[in-house]
Amino acid sequence: MAQGYGGRGRPGGRNALYAALAAAVVALAVLLWSATGGSSAPGEGPGSAAPDEAAAPDSGGAPTGREALVDNPLYGTGRLAPLPCPAPDPDVDDPASMERFLNTIADCLDQAWSTQFAKAGLAFDPPSRVFWTEPGTSPCRDYPSEAGAFYCRTSQSIYIGTEDVVRKWRGEANGAVYASLLAHEYGHHVQGEAGVLEYYHERRGQEQDRIAQNAWTRRSELQANCLAGVFLGAVAVSYPLEEEDVRAVLDDSEATADRPDGPADDRTHGSAENSRQWVRRGLDGQSPGSCNTWTADNALVA
Ligand SMILES: [Zn+2]
Repeated sequence: MAQGYGGRGRPGGRNALYAALAAAVVALAVLLWSATGGSSAPGEGPGSAAPDEAAAPDSGGAPTGREALVDNPLYGTGRLAPLPCPAPDPDVDDPASMERFLNTIADCLDQAWSTQFAKAGLAFDPPSRVFWTEPGTSPCRDYPSEAGAFYCRTSQSIYIGTEDVVRKWRGEANGAVYASLLAHEYGHHVQGEAGVLEYYHERRGQEQDRIAQNAWTRRSELQANCLAGVFLGAVAVSYPLEEEDVRAVLDDSEATADRPDGPADDRTHGSAENSRQWVRRGLDGQSPGSCNTWTADNALVA
């Protein structure tokens, strides 16, 4: 859902007078403050600049360069805290029910990953959500899109077509499959906030041919699979995720993998076996540290 800003009433009459008075008080305070050579006040609320701590790197700043991929602070944060996230299956034929379901899961994802980033000492802003039934545009691509669901780093938003994904998944009624899809797109947001996407895009862009570029893409996609598994593992008890749901999620991860007979140019998501393996790793490990695809052997990311 697009997030708007609430409209505020315009000051008029008496309100204008108060506003002018308030402005005068603020101006006086600033004057006094600068006269005493004040430095930045702590706790100015969201959006304020971080205090300047004697040349230390920005405390909330994500790592850059190769470190972001292979030695990310997120990998050392251990298991995601088990999280209450009860989510009854949606009525997949009712877009409003799908939207409610996706919002429930997204709320849990926000909570789980905010906590994990705080553990790593990294800043984290949850993504915006666009659950569409009507066509629209994003900075990355227009929708409906063939993908049915995608993440756009520019707008830091997850886009899911509440009717399109059901069609694409042939009416699949098991909500866990859509929870997994959302958790995968959310995994890309996690990568973005952790500094992974920036360096990965940079490195991929340096490759001359498509096949070498795809090798980078597969590591990124399989990491998102694993991060989805981490989340699903953390909510498995409360969701609840039964054995048949886990099976549905794992089977589905194979369905979205590269076809074995497909052209090498298109191998962007990994083999069916690897696609399943990385979700499984996440489910079992329940920690982002299980998801370091960047140092994995080539065979595991083929
Ligand atoms: Zn993906």
